[in-house]
Amino acid sequence: MSNKIQAIRGMNDLLPEQSAQWQYFEGQMRQLVQRYGYAEIRTPVLEQTALFARSIGEVTDIVEKEMYTFADRNGDSLTLRPEGTASCVRAALENGLLHNQTQRLWYQGPMFRYERPQKGRYRQFHQVGIEAYGLEGPDIDAEVILLSARLWKQLGLREHVTLELNSLGSSDARAAYRDILVSYFEDHRAVLDEDSLRRLQSNPLRILDSKNSDMAPMLKAAPKLLDHLDSASREHFERLCGILDAAGISYVINPRLVRGLDYYSRTVFEWTTTALGSQGTVCAGGRYDGLVEQLGGKPTPAVGFAMGVERLILLLDTLALVPEDACPRLDAYMIGMDEAASKSVLLLAETLRDACPTLRIQVHCGGGSFKSQMKKADKSGARLALLLGEDELARNAVTVKWLREDRDQQTLPRQELAAELIELLDISA
Ligand code: ATP
Ligand code: MG
Repeated sequence: MSNKIQAIRGMNDLLPEQSAQWQYFEGQMRQLVQRYGYAEIRTPVLEQTALFARSIGEVTDIVEKEMYTFADRNGDSLTLRPEGTASCVRAALENGLLHNQTQRLWYQGPMFRYERPQKGRYRQFHQVGIEAYGLEGPDIDAEVILLSARLWKQLGLREHVTLELNSLGSSDARAAYRDILVSYFEDHRAVLDEDSLRRLQSNPLRILDSKNSDMAPMLKAAPKLLDHLDSASREHFERLCGILDAAGISYVINPRLVRGLDYYSRTVFEWTTTALGSQGTVCAGGRYDGLVEQLGGKPTPAVGFAMGVERLILLLDTLALVPEDACPRLDAYMIGMDEAASKSVLLLAETLRDACPTLRIQVHCGGGSFKSQMKKADKSGARLALLLGEDELARNAVTVKWLREDRDQQTLPRQELAAELIELLDISA
């Protein structure tokens, strides 16, 4: 007996029932980004390891312990992308998209992180994200947030998510604050856990992000970066808050929001929900003005976000917000009632598809008794069955039998069938 090969832990199959929900979400998102003038960019899932090490930061969870990194047959170190922003900047630079111009881009696709799989946390997961380049004012930060807020409204999630906002200031302001923070943490060394002690020198800001509840009171009382912002960043933040106020977008200022990647500066934000347990962040983003230069380009302001698609679909599912008709069901199921008729149904369906491109029709394949074919028709979810038997063949006609509605069965001439179906099903030609 051979053992069955199974999928890799934390990497999920998406079955037909779920893919309907995914298509609904992706459709809403695609339509939305188009309404804001963002263009799609698709990049490879594999990149050189150095891209992520250099951009995300050596002392981050992702680079320290979550990347799928391996040597290819040439000995080059490659990494499955753990997020989309670094690849997006790499591709934009490599293809000259940032040359004296602004860009509004979006992407979607699988990301890979070696984490402990649990609800809302997987090893292959999906993000959809947007990135805007070449714009430095708070107006574009606001646009990015407004776009996400509109998505929540469209999906019926507005009451279920909260916007948390913070500013990380300029890198100079952050460096000065870092010293203040380190000396505060030194004074409270006894409360720091192992992870935090390790980060004390390498990445002390990340300690603020700790979820260890024993440290919570100490972190709550820690000096706040918002109180140590440079004046330009303070003004940027105030103007952003002003636009959000005017747009009626409510937010909570969270001074401990620092984000897990090194490249952020100024605005950072997260949309969170309490409906998913501890994996509550569904969208995270901010400004990363230094990254393009860090990856070899000219200094270019940049801002964006990434959404976790699995978490959003879990949320939509939990709250029963995916519409019944998210996945359109079949209109018609066609049956050949005897061997002669079975020979013509495939081609007859083709003529119907020619005449009516919106018609969703499935043809019974594989023969069987009329009864078993009708069972299949019913199971298919179609609204009606199209029956072709000896009698219909002789009369050059097709019988329409409603499967879920109390409507009379009727036999229609073939040449009128397409037009009649469009009428009967109330679909467009
Ligand atoms: P977390 O604190 O939950 O680990 P993160 O800060 O690592 O999140 P980001 O790198 O900001 O996450 O990614 C953006 C979004 O992608 C997250 O808010 C989340 O919705 C989703 N995400 C991140 N990691 C995973 C994962 N392993 N599985 C599923 N979704 C994820
Ligand atoms: Mg993480």
